[in-house]
Amino acid sequence: MEKWPLGVFASIDAGLGVKLEVARELGVPTLHLHAPTAQNRTEQAAQDFLQKLDGYGMRVTAVFGGFEGESYADIPTVVKTVGLTPEDTRASRLAEMKEISDFARHLGVPVVALHLGFISEDRESASYKSVVETTQDLCDYCANNNQSLHLETGQETAEGLLHFLGDVARDNLFVNFDPANMILYGTAEPIPALEQVGKFVRSVHCKDGRWSQNPGKDWGEEVSLGEGDVDFAAFLTTLKKIGYTGPLTIEREIPQEPERQRAEIGSAVSLLERLKREIG
Ligand code: MG
Repeated sequence: MEKWPLGVFASIDAGLGVKLEVARELGVPTLHLHAPTAQNRTEQAAQDFLQKLDGYGMRVTAVFGGFEGESYADIPTVVKTVGLTPEDTRASRLAEMKEISDFARHLGVPVVALHLGFISEDRESASYKSVVETTQDLCDYCANNNQSLHLETGQETAEGLLHFLGDVARDNLFVNFDPANMILYGTAEPIPALEQVGKFVRSVHCKDGRWSQNPGKDWGEEVSLGEGDVDFAAFLTTLKKIGYTGPLTIEREIPQEPERQRAEIGSAVSLLERLKREIG
């Protein structure tokens, strides 16, 4: 396989990613797919989608779970609504992640991924322990489907993430490293964090962002790749150093502005192609 094939985060019928047709126009060979809505997660839908992808010369490298009721409006809202950490929705979302794992199996995709949400930093707390158990349950389900589970980074420090991975203790649990999230959430500088969790990184998002005035309290700002505080030359140099050769998946989540989304992803493709030539 080509080193560092480009990709985009795409959505078929819901979610924040670009439409499949846009991905095709951009000529990228790989996709991270936001899982479609429940009624479109059938085996038949998977076969139809695969046929389409085949015609486009594209393949899905990860299927991302996302849930109704999630909101990234501000950091406190993320804590309350995103991922498997909120307790009132955990059981139903865990069941949905298992359905998504089955859908990914129909697509022949060996990776399922998600934002787990804000994990408690108190490793002795009941809430931390129950999130560990939920993650073990999901990992084991994915393992039966011959899949890995990738956790999207951002809310936790590299140390916190390493502790969590160790506590879950499943050999199919890895990391989808998103450098912008660490800046948007105000967690830490992303490049040193990438080195720290390097051996677990099996997929990445190429997204850019700017630090907020009050990191960790207010959101930073997601911006076009190359215009923010992520040093992408350093990002690729570090990916090389940790031995990562998988896709570089561009994520730009402004579905409400499709023209701008298309243009900005187009310029991200150019920038990453140049950096690949220089660094790869
Ligand atoms: Mg991401």
